[in-house]
Order: sequence, then C-alpha cells, then structure tokens
Amino acid sequence: MSLAYQIRDGHLLWIRNPFTGVTSYAVELRAKSFAYTLRQHHHRTEHAAQGGDDPRRLQIALEECPFCPGHEDRSPAEILRLSPAEVAQWQGTQMLPDAPWVVRAFNNLFPRIPGELTAGRNESYVIVEDARHFLDNPRSVHDLLYTGALGEAHFAAVVGVAARLVERAMSNPAVGSVVVRKNQGPESGASQPHVHQQVIGSPSILPALEIEMRAQREHPNLWNEMVELARELKLIVEEGDGVVSYVNPAGTFPQSYDVVAPGFFGALSDLTSEQLRTFAGALHRVLSFLGPLPLDYEIHQGEGLPLHAHINVRLFPYSNVAGTLNIPRHLPEIAARIRRQINGEDK
Ligand SMILES: [Zn+2]
Ligand SMILES: [Zn+2]
Repeated sequence: MSLAYQIRDGHLLWIRNPFTGVTSYAVELRAKSFAYTLRQHHHRTEHAAQGGDDPRRLQIALEECPFCPGHEDRSPAEILRLSPAEVAQWQGTQMLPDAPWVVRAFNNLFPRIPGELTAGRNESYVIVEDARHFLDNPRSVHDLLYTGALGEAHFAAVVGVAARLVERAMSNPAVGSVVVRKNQGPESGASQPHVHQQVIGSPSILPALEIEMRAQREHPNLWNEMVELARELKLIVEEGDGVVSYVNPAGTFPQSYDVVAPGFFGALSDLTSEQLRTFAGALHRVLSFLGPLPLDYEIHQGEGLPLHAHINVRLFPYSNVAGTLNIPRHLPEIAARIRRQINGEDK
C-alpha cells in the first residue's frame, strides 16, 4: 500500500496508514476535554497541589525500587554502566553527589521473548536511564524523573548504550531483529516507576518491522513521500543533518511523531557518534516538548528500512473503530508550537 490520503483547501481530510491500513480522519478536537483520558495524570497534578505525600512515602518508594542505586543486587548481572564522569553535564550531581553510576544496563528479569527462542540467551535488556528516581524537590511519589527531563547529551549517551545493546543482541546468530522500546507512564504499559527503557532482540523479524519492510520493498519511496506530505501539511518539526522529525497524521495513535533518517539504512549501532547525537537530539527535543505525558517510542531498524523512531502520545483518546482513528484537525498548530519551543520562542 502506498500513501493514500485526501487534502481539501490545504487541510488533510483523511490518511491511510501505509503499513496497517488504518484510516485516520481529521476532526475538530480542540473543544474536547481530555480530563477523562488523562485522569490518572490529572490526579497526580492535583495530588501534588494539595500538599503532596508524607516524606516517608517518598522514602519507601526509593527503598522499594529495584532500579535505584544501592539495589544493584535486585536485578540480573550488570552488562554495562556509565559513571557520572562519562555523562556530559549530568544534572543529578546535587541530588546524588555520591552516585556510583548514571546509566546502567542489564538483562530484563522478565524477558519479553523467552530466551529459549534465541539460542538460550535472554535478549531482553533494561537500560536505567538515570540514577535519580524523582524530579528535583518531589512532593508526591508521582513526581518521577522522565526521559524528556534528561539533558540532551545525557539522552544521547542513553541512546549510545541502546546502540551497544543492539549490537550485542545482533551478535547472537539466533536473533533476527532488535527494537528499542520506551514506555512512559503506566497508561502506556510501564511497569516500573524509575526512568528506564528496553532493548528487545527477537528470533524472527518483529511483526511491525516485517510489515514496514514489505511496504518498503513495494514502494521504495514511501518514507520520502511521508516527509514530503508532512512538509506540504506544515507538520515538520525539524529538518537537517540527514534527520527529519514531523507530526505523523497516519501514526498508530491520534498524536504520533516520527523521527527519520531518510538516507540511512543501517542499524542504530551503525551510526557514527556524530550521527547518533543528531538522531538522539531530534528525538530528545520531541520528548522534552511532550514532558511527562504518557507515551511510548520505538526505534525501528531493519534491512532496507531507513532508521526511524515512532513516538505515540496518550493525549487524545485512542479509539480504533473498525480500523479507523480520529486525529485532531489542528495537528499543524501542534507542530508550530513544538517548533517555537525548539527555537526558544516560548516555554
Ligand atoms: Zn528508583
Ligand atoms: Zn517503524
């Protein structure tokens, strides 16, 4: 399936996801309230406003967390760590002056795919992105550190660790493909409050990648068409140095973003350190705009595919009705808002 969509008077009416066939209809959502969709999120904000938690509750959360410093023995053996000296401008030195590490990686205690299927090796990994559990001056157990709050160089270091794990998983001949996956917030499937992401090696080509690879073979220009359409609809967030990010009207969720390196067909681990910083930087700027909102992202890589990331935000209600979604008609305004923030024009 190639790109199918309809534009009238410069506005997108509908677009079909070229991989899944799901059709998104652009509708007016500005007046709609999201209090119900984001109930949990709102609840937290309200809770903090009401004076927050007893400090003891915050202490208990740290004591219970298997990802906090001092609890290294609660996870499988460490594969690698980055020390504070290895993470440029780490912002946690005041909160954790004696942190033994900033980033840590180990096998997932609960592998996504059973190790028996990848020659007996567990190819599911966890990256703890920061030693800090909470944001500065937390008032509630819900004031958690989130990925968009990390410094840009720090986030690039985290993506660098993901690249090393991708390489490690790919060195297993029983692994067919590897995905980097982030769940932010319980609404998106995160099971641990401490900021972390995953790298998952699969014995076969992962289904989402298989569909994309097939579409790519049939329509080699598909990604360029997506970028051109984003340009026409004023949905580009940033473009330059071989990486483009845009609001994707045909994403999996009603608010989705793509970060694509249209001319780079390798894996995350094939990027030079400069290319990795460019790619991670573009991803980080979208994440920092989205802040603590519940979201997920995946970095996709596969034979013939341009390296890319999908970010799916749980803001507008997700309701798939017989293969159709509603997307907000004002996506170009959202793209303009993030461009202004990136350019420092507003906060
Ligand atoms: Zn923790
Ligand atoms: Zn993809």
